[in-house]
Amino acid sequence: MDYVSTRGGAEKLDFAGVLLAGLASDGGLYMPESWPVFSKTELRALRGLPYAELAARVMAPFIGDAIPSVALQAMCRSAYAGFAHPAVVPLVQVGTGCFALELFHGPTLAFKDLALQLAGHLFEYVLKARDERVCIVGATSGDTGSAAIEAMAGRARIDITILHPEGKTSEVQRRQMTTMRADNVMNIAVEGNFDDCQDIVKALFADGAFRSEVKLSAVNSINFARIAAQIPYYVAAALALGAPDAPVAISVPTGNFGNVLAAWAASRMGIPVQKFIVASNRNDILVRFLAGNDMSIQGVAPSLSPSMDIQVSSNFERLLFEFLGRNDEKTRYVMASFRDTGKMPVPDTVWRAIRREFVGFTLSDKATLAEIARTYREAGYLADPHTAIGLAAARAFGPVGTNVIVAATAHPAKFPDAMAQAVDFRPPLPPHLADLYERDEYFTRAPNDWTNIAGRVRNFVNRNA
Ligand SMILES: *Cc1c(COP(=O)(O)O)cnc(C)c1O
Repeated sequence: MDYVSTRGGAEKLDFAGVLLAGLASDGGLYMPESWPVFSKTELRALRGLPYAELAARVMAPFIGDAIPSVALQAMCRSAYAGFAHPAVVPLVQVGTGCFALELFHGPTLAFKDLALQLAGHLFEYVLKARDERVCIVGATSGDTGSAAIEAMAGRARIDITILHPEGKTSEVQRRQMTTMRADNVMNIAVEGNFDDCQDIVKALFADGAFRSEVKLSAVNSINFARIAAQIPYYVAAALALGAPDAPVAISVPTGNFGNVLAAWAASRMGIPVQKFIVASNRNDILVRFLAGNDMSIQGVAPSLSPSMDIQVSSNFERLLFEFLGRNDEKTRYVMASFRDTGKMPVPDTVWRAIRREFVGFTLSDKATLAEIARTYREAGYLADPHTAIGLAAARAFGPVGTNVIVAATAHPAKFPDAMAQAVDFRPPLPPHLADLYERDEYFTRAPNDWTNIAGRVRNFVNRNA
Protein backbone atom coordinates (compact mmCIF):
# COMPACT_ATOMS: atom_id res chain seq x y z
CA MET A 1 0.00 0.00 0.00
CA ASP A 2 1.30 3.44 -0.94
CA TYR A 3 0.36 6.67 0.84
CA VAL A 4 -0.17 10.08 -0.73
CA SER A 5 -0.23 13.53 0.85
CA THR A 6 -3.55 15.40 1.02
CA ARG A 7 -1.66 18.40 -0.43
CA GLY A 8 -0.01 16.55 -3.30
CA GLY A 9 3.50 17.93 -2.80
CA ALA A 10 5.25 15.11 -0.93
CA GLU A 11 6.73 11.84 -2.11
CA LYS A 12 4.64 8.69 -1.86
CA LEU A 13 5.66 6.48 1.04
CA ASP A 14 4.86 2.95 2.15
CA PHE A 15 3.43 2.21 5.62
CA ALA A 16 6.84 2.09 7.29
CA GLY A 17 7.76 5.45 5.77
CA VAL A 18 4.49 7.02 6.92
CA LEU A 19 4.94 5.60 10.42
CA LEU A 20 8.34 7.29 10.81
CA ALA A 21 7.49 10.51 8.95
CA GLY A 22 4.14 11.37 10.60
CA LEU A 23 3.38 14.63 8.81
CA ALA A 24 4.06 14.82 5.06
CA SER A 25 6.90 17.15 3.97
CA ASP A 26 4.43 19.51 2.22
CA GLY A 27 2.52 20.04 5.48
CA GLY A 28 -0.26 17.66 4.39
CA LEU A 29 -1.43 14.39 5.94
CA TYR A 30 -0.75 10.97 4.48
CA MET A 31 -3.69 8.93 3.22
CA PRO A 32 -3.79 5.42 1.74
CA GLU A 33 -3.85 5.58 -2.05
CA SER A 34 -7.14 3.64 -1.93
CA TRP A 35 -9.33 2.15 0.81
CA PRO A 36 -9.14 -1.60 1.19
CA VAL A 37 -12.62 -3.16 1.00
CA PHE A 38 -13.75 -6.36 2.72
CA SER A 39 -16.66 -8.28 1.15
CA LYS A 40 -19.62 -9.25 3.34
CA THR A 41 -18.32 -12.81 3.43
CA GLU A 42 -14.88 -11.63 4.51
CA LEU A 43 -16.41 -9.45 7.21
CA ARG A 44 -18.62 -12.25 8.57
CA ALA A 45 -15.51 -14.43 8.80
CA LEU A 46 -14.02 -11.94 11.28
CA ARG A 47 -16.91 -12.32 13.76
CA GLY A 48 -15.89 -13.75 17.10
CA LEU A 49 -12.14 -13.59 16.56
CA PRO A 50 -9.98 -12.59 19.53
CA TYR A 51 -9.37 -8.84 19.27
CA ALA A 52 -5.64 -9.03 18.50
CA GLU A 53 -6.31 -11.45 15.66
CA LEU A 54 -9.09 -9.30 14.22
CA ALA A 55 -6.94 -6.17 14.51
CA ALA A 56 -4.08 -7.80 12.59
CA ARG A 57 -6.43 -8.88 9.79
CA VAL A 58 -8.13 -5.49 9.48
CA MET A 59 -4.80 -3.63 9.49
CA ALA A 60 -2.96 -5.98 7.13
CA PRO A 61 -4.06 -4.28 3.87
CA PHE A 62 -2.88 -0.89 5.20
CA ILE A 63 0.52 -2.28 6.06
CA GLY A 64 0.94 -4.16 2.80
CA ASP A 65 4.45 -5.48 2.23
CA ALA A 66 6.02 -3.23 4.87
CA ILE A 67 5.66 -5.85 7.63
CA PRO A 68 5.05 -9.60 7.17
CA SER A 69 1.65 -10.73 8.47
CA VAL A 70 3.12 -13.21 10.97
CA ALA A 71 5.15 -10.39 12.57
CA LEU A 72 2.09 -8.10 12.58
CA GLN A 73 0.00 -10.75 14.34
CA ALA A 74 2.67 -11.24 16.99
CA MET A 75 2.90 -7.48 17.58
CA CYS A 76 -0.89 -7.14 17.93
CA ARG A 77 -0.96 -10.02 20.42
CA SER A 78 1.75 -8.52 22.55
CA ALA A 79 0.40 -4.93 22.28
CA TYR A 80 -3.03 -5.96 23.58
CA ALA A 81 -1.95 -8.66 26.05
CA GLY A 82 -1.44 -6.01 28.73
CA PHE A 83 -5.02 -4.70 28.57
CA ALA A 84 -7.02 -5.18 31.74
CA HIS A 85 -10.03 -6.81 30.04
CA PRO A 86 -10.00 -10.17 28.23
CA ALA A 87 -12.08 -8.71 25.38
CA VAL A 88 -9.59 -5.78 25.09
CA VAL A 89 -12.42 -3.52 23.82
CA PRO A 90 -15.63 -4.80 25.50
CA LEU A 91 -19.03 -3.58 24.30
CA VAL A 92 -21.37 -2.77 27.18
CA GLN A 93 -25.08 -2.09 26.72
CA VAL A 94 -26.19 1.03 28.58
CA GLY A 95 -29.68 1.55 27.15
CA THR A 96 -32.03 0.53 24.36
CA GLY A 97 -29.88 0.20 21.25
CA CYS A 98 -27.05 2.08 22.97
CA PHE A 99 -23.67 0.42 23.49
CA ALA A 100 -20.51 1.79 25.09
CA LEU A 101 -17.40 0.55 23.31
CA GLU A 102 -14.91 0.62 26.18
CA LEU A 103 -11.57 1.75 24.82
CA PHE A 104 -9.99 2.51 28.20
CA HIS A 105 -8.65 -0.80 29.48
CA GLY A 106 -5.06 -0.08 28.39
CA PRO A 107 -2.23 1.02 30.69
CA THR A 108 -3.10 4.75 30.72
CA LEU A 109 -6.90 4.37 30.80
CA ALA A 110 -7.72 6.21 27.56
CA PHE A 111 -8.36 5.04 23.98
CA LYS A 112 -4.98 6.33 22.79
CA ASP A 113 -3.40 3.17 24.22
CA LEU A 114 -5.06 1.08 21.49
CA ALA A 115 -3.01 2.82 18.79
CA LEU A 116 0.11 3.75 20.75
CA GLN A 117 0.76 0.37 22.38
CA LEU A 118 0.84 -1.11 18.89
CA ALA A 119 2.81 1.85 17.51
CA GLY A 120 5.58 1.11 20.04
CA HIS A 121 6.02 -2.34 18.53
CA LEU A 122 5.71 -1.07 14.95
CA PHE A 123 8.38 1.61 15.51
CA GLU A 124 10.77 -0.87 17.04
CA TYR A 125 10.26 -3.36 14.21
CA VAL A 126 10.76 -0.82 11.43
CA LEU A 127 13.75 0.87 13.13
CA LYS A 128 15.46 -2.47 13.64
CA ALA A 129 14.91 -3.45 10.00
CA ARG A 130 16.46 -0.13 8.89
CA ASP A 131 19.09 -0.05 11.64
CA GLU A 132 17.97 3.46 12.62
CA ARG A 133 17.02 5.38 15.77
CA VAL A 134 14.49 8.15 16.35
CA CYS A 135 13.93 10.86 18.90
CA ILE A 136 10.23 11.41 19.51
CA VAL A 137 9.20 14.82 20.79
CA GLY A 138 5.59 15.59 21.61
CA ALA A 139 3.44 18.11 23.40
CA THR A 140 0.52 16.97 25.49
CA SER A 141 -2.45 18.49 27.25
CA GLY A 142 -2.96 15.20 29.07
CA ASP A 143 -3.71 11.80 27.55
CA THR A 144 -1.37 11.59 24.55
CA GLY A 145 1.80 12.10 26.58
CA SER A 146 1.24 9.29 29.04
CA ALA A 147 0.05 6.87 26.34
CA ALA A 148 3.15 7.64 24.24
CA ILE A 149 5.50 7.28 27.21
CA GLU A 150 3.94 3.94 28.24
CA ALA A 151 4.31 2.70 24.67
CA MET A 152 7.91 3.82 24.12
CA ALA A 153 9.58 3.44 27.54
CA GLY A 154 12.51 1.04 27.49
CA ARG A 155 12.61 0.67 23.70
CA ALA A 156 16.21 0.45 22.53
CA ARG A 157 16.06 2.55 19.37
CA ILE A 158 13.79 5.31 20.64
CA ASP A 159 14.22 8.35 22.87
CA ILE A 160 11.09 10.22 23.87
CA THR A 161 10.64 13.72 25.27
CA ILE A 162 7.18 14.93 26.28
CA LEU A 163 6.44 18.58 27.01
CA HIS A 164 3.47 19.38 29.23
CA PRO A 165 2.23 22.79 30.38
CA GLU A 166 3.29 23.20 34.00
CA GLY A 167 0.32 22.98 36.37
CA LYS A 168 -2.23 22.68 33.56
CA THR A 169 -2.82 18.94 33.31
CA SER A 170 -4.85 16.99 35.86
CA GLU A 171 -2.84 15.37 38.64
CA VAL A 172 -3.65 11.85 37.40
CA GLN A 173 -2.58 12.79 33.89
CA ARG A 174 0.68 14.38 35.10
CA ARG A 175 1.57 11.51 37.40
CA GLN A 176 0.92 8.97 34.66
CA MET A 177 3.71 10.67 32.68
CA THR A 178 6.15 11.70 35.36
CA THR A 179 6.18 8.53 37.47
CA MET A 180 7.59 6.52 34.57
CA ARG A 181 11.27 5.97 35.23
CA ALA A 182 13.08 4.83 32.10
CA ASP A 183 16.43 5.79 30.60
CA ASN A 184 14.90 6.83 27.29
CA VAL A 185 12.10 9.02 28.71
CA MET A 186 12.37 12.75 29.46
CA ASN A 187 9.47 14.77 30.86
CA ILE A 188 9.62 18.56 30.71
CA ALA A 189 7.16 20.88 32.43
CA VAL A 190 7.09 24.06 30.33
CA GLU A 191 6.27 27.41 31.91
CA GLY A 192 3.37 28.12 29.59
CA ASN A 193 0.15 26.62 28.25
CA PHE A 194 -0.51 23.76 25.86
CA ASP A 195 -0.31 25.99 22.78
CA ASP A 196 3.17 27.15 23.91
CA CYS A 197 4.25 23.50 24.16
CA GLN A 198 2.87 22.77 20.71
CA ASP A 199 4.61 25.83 19.25
CA ILE A 200 7.92 24.63 20.69
CA VAL A 201 7.45 21.23 19.04
CA LYS A 202 6.58 22.92 15.74
CA ALA A 203 9.69 25.10 15.98
CA LEU A 204 11.88 22.03 16.58
CA PHE A 205 10.42 20.32 13.51
CA ALA A 206 10.82 23.47 11.42
CA ASP A 207 14.57 23.56 12.16
CA GLY A 208 15.77 21.21 9.41
CA ALA A 209 19.30 20.88 10.78
CA PHE A 210 18.12 20.01 14.27
CA ARG A 211 15.48 17.70 12.88
CA SER A 212 18.00 15.55 11.03
CA GLU A 213 20.68 15.83 13.72
CA VAL A 214 18.53 14.17 16.41
CA LYS A 215 16.31 12.19 13.95
CA LEU A 216 13.14 13.85 15.15
CA SER A 217 9.87 11.95 14.92
CA ALA A 218 6.31 12.39 16.17
CA VAL A 219 3.48 10.23 17.42
CA ASN A 220 0.57 12.68 17.35
CA SER A 221 -2.76 11.69 15.87
CA ILE A 222 -1.91 13.00 12.41
CA ASN A 223 0.23 9.87 12.00
CA PHE A 224 -1.82 7.54 9.79
CA ALA A 225 -0.48 4.49 11.62
CA ARG A 226 -2.51 5.61 14.62
CA ILE A 227 -5.68 5.97 12.54
CA ALA A 228 -5.11 2.50 11.04
CA ALA A 229 -4.86 1.01 14.53
CA GLN A 230 -8.16 2.61 15.55
CA ILE A 231 -10.25 1.12 12.72
CA PRO A 232 -10.36 -2.48 14.03
CA TYR A 233 -12.33 -1.70 17.20
CA TYR A 234 -15.16 -0.15 15.21
CA VAL A 235 -15.18 -3.19 12.92
CA ALA A 236 -15.26 -5.54 15.93
CA ALA A 237 -18.12 -3.65 17.62
CA ALA A 238 -20.19 -3.36 14.44
CA LEU A 239 -19.76 -7.09 13.71
CA ALA A 240 -20.92 -7.91 17.24
CA LEU A 241 -24.09 -5.88 16.59
CA GLY A 242 -24.93 -7.62 13.34
CA ALA A 243 -22.88 -5.88 10.65
CA PRO A 244 -22.48 -6.26 7.73
CA ASP A 245 -26.07 -7.57 7.71
CA ALA A 246 -27.40 -4.73 9.89
CA PRO A 247 -26.22 -1.10 9.94
CA VAL A 248 -24.99 0.74 13.02
CA ALA A 249 -24.54 4.39 14.00
CA ILE A 250 -21.37 5.60 15.71
CA SER A 251 -21.04 8.43 18.25
CA VAL A 252 -17.52 9.69 19.01
CA PRO A 253 -16.39 12.27 21.59
CA THR A 254 -14.12 14.35 19.43
CA GLY A 255 -11.07 16.59 19.59
CA ASN A 256 -8.63 16.24 16.71
CA PHE A 257 -11.15 14.18 14.68
CA GLY A 258 -8.79 11.17 14.55
CA ASN A 259 -11.11 8.73 16.25
CA VAL A 260 -14.11 9.78 14.10
CA LEU A 261 -12.00 9.46 10.99
CA ALA A 262 -11.15 5.87 11.96
CA ALA A 263 -14.88 5.12 12.30
CA TRP A 264 -15.48 6.61 8.88
CA ALA A 265 -12.64 4.50 7.46
CA ALA A 266 -14.39 1.38 8.78
CA SER A 267 -17.40 2.36 6.67
CA ARG A 268 -15.16 2.76 3.61
CA MET A 269 -13.96 -0.78 4.23
CA GLY A 270 -17.47 -2.24 4.12
CA ILE A 271 -19.12 -1.69 7.53
CA PRO A 272 -22.58 -0.17 6.96
CA VAL A 273 -22.80 3.00 9.08
CA GLN A 274 -26.02 5.01 8.97
CA LYS A 275 -24.76 8.07 10.86
CA PHE A 276 -21.57 9.43 12.41
CA ILE A 277 -22.31 11.55 15.46
CA VAL A 278 -19.55 14.06 16.24
CA ALA A 279 -19.76 14.87 19.96
CA SER A 280 -18.06 17.98 21.38
CA ASN A 281 -17.88 20.05 24.53
CA ARG A 282 -18.10 23.85 24.39
CA ASN A 283 -15.16 23.87 21.95
CA ASP A 284 -17.53 23.21 19.09
CA ILE A 285 -15.77 24.15 15.84
CA LEU A 286 -16.91 20.91 14.16
CA VAL A 287 -20.47 21.31 15.37
CA ARG A 288 -20.62 24.85 13.97
CA PHE A 289 -19.25 23.51 10.70
CA LEU A 290 -21.81 20.72 10.45
CA ALA A 291 -24.69 22.99 11.44
CA GLY A 292 -23.94 25.93 9.18
CA ASN A 293 -20.68 25.43 7.21
CA ASP A 294 -18.89 27.66 9.70
CA MET A 295 -15.41 26.23 10.30
CA SER A 296 -13.86 29.23 12.03
CA ILE A 297 -11.25 29.38 14.76
CA GLN A 298 -12.23 30.65 18.20
CA GLY A 299 -10.17 30.57 21.40
CA VAL A 300 -9.98 27.34 23.39
CA ALA A 301 -12.05 27.31 26.55
CA PRO A 302 -11.21 24.81 29.30
CA SER A 303 -13.86 22.19 30.07
CA LEU A 304 -14.48 19.07 32.15
CA SER A 305 -13.49 17.00 29.10
CA PRO A 306 -9.98 18.44 28.57
CA SER A 307 -8.92 15.96 25.87
CA MET A 308 -11.45 17.60 23.57
CA ASP A 309 -10.39 21.19 24.31
CA ILE A 310 -9.08 22.00 20.84
CA GLN A 311 -9.09 24.94 18.53
CA VAL A 312 -8.60 23.09 15.22
CA SER A 313 -9.34 19.45 14.39
CA SER A 314 -6.25 18.50 12.38
CA ASN A 315 -7.57 15.23 11.02
CA PHE A 316 -10.54 16.95 9.40
CA GLU A 317 -8.20 17.67 6.47
CA ARG A 318 -8.35 13.96 5.62
CA LEU A 319 -12.14 13.99 5.37
CA LEU A 320 -12.03 17.20 3.36
CA PHE A 321 -9.58 15.61 0.91
CA GLU A 322 -11.97 12.66 0.44
CA PHE A 323 -15.07 14.81 -0.03
CA LEU A 324 -13.19 17.04 -2.49
CA GLY A 325 -12.83 13.91 -4.61
CA ARG A 326 -9.23 13.41 -3.44
CA ASN A 327 -8.26 16.59 -5.25
CA ASP A 328 -4.99 17.66 -3.58
CA GLU A 329 -4.90 21.03 -5.33
CA LYS A 330 -8.31 22.02 -3.92
CA THR A 331 -7.37 20.65 -0.48
CA ARG A 332 -4.18 22.72 -0.51
CA TYR A 333 -6.16 25.84 -1.41
CA VAL A 334 -8.81 25.34 1.31
CA MET A 335 -6.18 24.64 3.99
CA ALA A 336 -4.07 27.64 2.95
CA SER A 337 -7.12 29.94 3.20
CA PHE A 338 -7.94 28.46 6.59
CA ARG A 339 -4.40 29.17 7.80
CA ASP A 340 -4.46 32.73 6.44
CA THR A 341 -7.98 33.78 7.44
CA GLY A 342 -9.02 31.46 10.31
CA LYS A 343 -12.08 30.43 8.33
CA MET A 344 -12.26 27.36 6.08
CA PRO A 345 -13.96 27.95 2.70
CA VAL A 346 -15.64 24.57 2.21
CA PRO A 347 -17.69 24.50 -1.01
CA ASP A 348 -21.41 24.23 -0.28
CA THR A 349 -21.85 20.99 -2.22
CA VAL A 350 -19.06 19.39 -0.20
CA TRP A 351 -20.57 20.60 3.09
CA ARG A 352 -23.95 19.11 2.09
CA ALA A 353 -22.38 15.79 1.19
CA ILE A 354 -20.58 15.63 4.56
CA ARG A 355 -23.83 16.48 6.34
CA ARG A 356 -25.54 13.47 4.81
CA GLU A 357 -23.21 11.24 6.86
CA PHE A 358 -22.23 13.36 9.87
CA VAL A 359 -24.16 15.23 12.53
CA GLY A 360 -22.65 17.42 15.26
CA PHE A 361 -23.59 17.67 18.94
CA THR A 362 -22.31 19.94 21.71
CA LEU A 363 -22.80 19.75 25.48
CA SER A 364 -21.99 22.23 28.27
CA ASP A 365 -20.09 21.21 31.41
CA LYS A 366 -23.25 21.49 33.47
CA ALA A 367 -25.21 19.21 31.14
CA THR A 368 -22.23 16.81 31.05
CA LEU A 369 -22.38 16.43 34.84
CA ALA A 370 -26.13 15.87 34.61
CA GLU A 371 -25.58 13.20 31.93
CA ILE A 372 -23.01 11.38 34.09
CA ALA A 373 -25.46 11.41 37.01
CA ARG A 374 -28.38 10.29 34.86
CA THR A 375 -26.47 7.43 33.23
CA TYR A 376 -25.31 6.25 36.63
CA ARG A 377 -28.78 6.48 38.14
CA GLU A 378 -30.71 4.92 35.27
CA ALA A 379 -28.26 2.39 33.87
CA GLY A 380 -25.82 1.88 36.72
CA TYR A 381 -23.07 2.88 34.32
CA LEU A 382 -20.23 5.22 35.25
CA ALA A 383 -19.17 7.28 32.23
CA ASP A 384 -16.23 9.69 32.26
CA PRO A 385 -17.01 13.26 31.05
CA HIS A 386 -15.85 12.55 27.46
CA THR A 387 -17.91 9.37 27.19
CA ALA A 388 -20.92 11.09 28.76
CA ILE A 389 -20.97 13.62 25.92
CA GLY A 390 -20.90 10.74 23.42
CA LEU A 391 -23.81 9.07 25.22
CA ALA A 392 -25.88 12.26 25.28
CA ALA A 393 -25.14 12.74 21.57
CA ALA A 394 -26.31 9.20 20.85
CA ARG A 395 -29.57 9.86 22.67
CA ALA A 396 -30.12 13.07 20.74
CA PHE A 397 -29.22 11.83 17.27
CA GLY A 398 -29.15 8.01 17.23
CA PRO A 399 -31.37 6.87 14.35
CA VAL A 400 -34.46 5.04 15.67
CA GLY A 401 -34.17 1.27 15.31
CA THR A 402 -30.40 1.28 14.73
CA ASN A 403 -27.85 0.27 17.35
CA VAL A 404 -25.50 3.08 18.29
CA ILE A 405 -21.87 2.44 19.23
CA VAL A 406 -20.57 5.13 21.60
CA ALA A 407 -16.79 5.35 21.85
CA ALA A 408 -16.06 5.28 25.60
CA THR A 409 -12.73 7.07 25.37
CA ALA A 410 -11.54 7.29 29.00
CA HIS A 411 -11.90 5.50 32.32
CA PRO A 412 -13.92 7.52 34.87
CA ALA A 413 -11.08 7.24 37.44
CA LYS A 414 -8.97 9.43 35.16
CA PHE A 415 -11.18 12.46 35.95
CA PRO A 416 -11.94 12.06 39.67
CA ASP A 417 -12.85 15.70 40.34
CA ALA A 418 -15.51 15.82 37.64
CA MET A 419 -16.89 12.47 38.80
CA ALA A 420 -17.08 13.70 42.40
CA GLN A 421 -19.12 16.69 41.21
CA ALA A 422 -21.49 14.47 39.26
CA VAL A 423 -21.99 11.42 41.49
CA ASP A 424 -20.46 12.42 44.84
CA PHE A 425 -17.65 9.88 44.85
CA ARG A 426 -14.27 9.31 43.23
CA PRO A 427 -14.05 6.06 41.27
CA PRO A 428 -10.95 4.12 42.38
CA LEU A 429 -8.02 3.70 40.02
CA PRO A 430 -7.61 0.14 38.72
CA PRO A 431 -5.08 -2.06 40.57
CA HIS A 432 -2.09 -1.35 38.31
CA LEU A 433 -2.36 2.37 39.13
CA ALA A 434 -3.65 2.12 42.70
CA ASP A 435 -0.40 3.56 44.17
CA LEU A 436 -0.07 6.33 41.55
CA TYR A 437 -0.30 9.08 44.17
CA GLU A 438 2.55 7.57 46.20
CA ARG A 439 5.03 7.15 43.34
CA ASP A 440 8.04 9.45 42.84
CA GLU A 441 7.84 11.90 39.96
CA TYR A 442 10.65 12.61 37.49
CA PHE A 443 10.57 15.78 35.41
CA THR A 444 12.45 19.00 34.85
CA ARG A 445 11.10 22.51 34.43
CA ALA A 446 11.97 24.67 31.47
CA PRO A 447 11.18 28.19 30.30
CA ASN A 448 8.89 28.74 27.32
CA ASP A 449 11.82 28.97 24.90
CA TRP A 450 12.32 26.52 22.07
CA THR A 451 16.10 26.93 21.83
CA ASN A 452 16.37 25.97 25.51
CA ILE A 453 14.29 22.83 24.87
CA ALA A 454 16.33 22.05 21.73
CA GLY A 455 19.48 22.08 23.87
CA ARG A 456 17.95 19.71 26.40
CA VAL A 457 16.76 17.30 23.71
CA ARG A 458 20.20 17.34 22.06
CA ASN A 459 21.94 16.59 25.37
CA PHE A 460 19.45 13.84 26.11
CA VAL A 461 19.98 12.14 22.73
CA ASN A 462 23.77 12.36 23.18
CA ARG A 463 23.74 11.31 26.84
CA ASN A 464 25.71 8.12 26.20
CA ALA A 465 28.06 9.53 23.58
C1 LIG B 1 -7.74 12.22 22.72
C2 LIG B 1 -9.07 12.04 23.35
C3 LIG B 1 -10.27 12.38 22.69
C4 LIG B 1 -10.29 13.03 21.32
O1 LIG B 1 -9.88 12.12 20.32
P1 LIG B 1 -9.56 12.64 18.84
O2 LIG B 1 -9.11 11.44 18.09
O3 LIG B 1 -8.50 13.69 19.00
O4 LIG B 1 -10.83 13.20 18.30
C5 LIG B 1 -11.48 12.13 23.32
N1 LIG B 1 -11.53 11.58 24.56
C6 LIG B 1 -10.40 11.26 25.23
C7 LIG B 1 -10.52 10.70 26.60
C8 LIG B 1 -9.14 11.46 24.66
O5 LIG B 1 -8.02 11.13 25.34
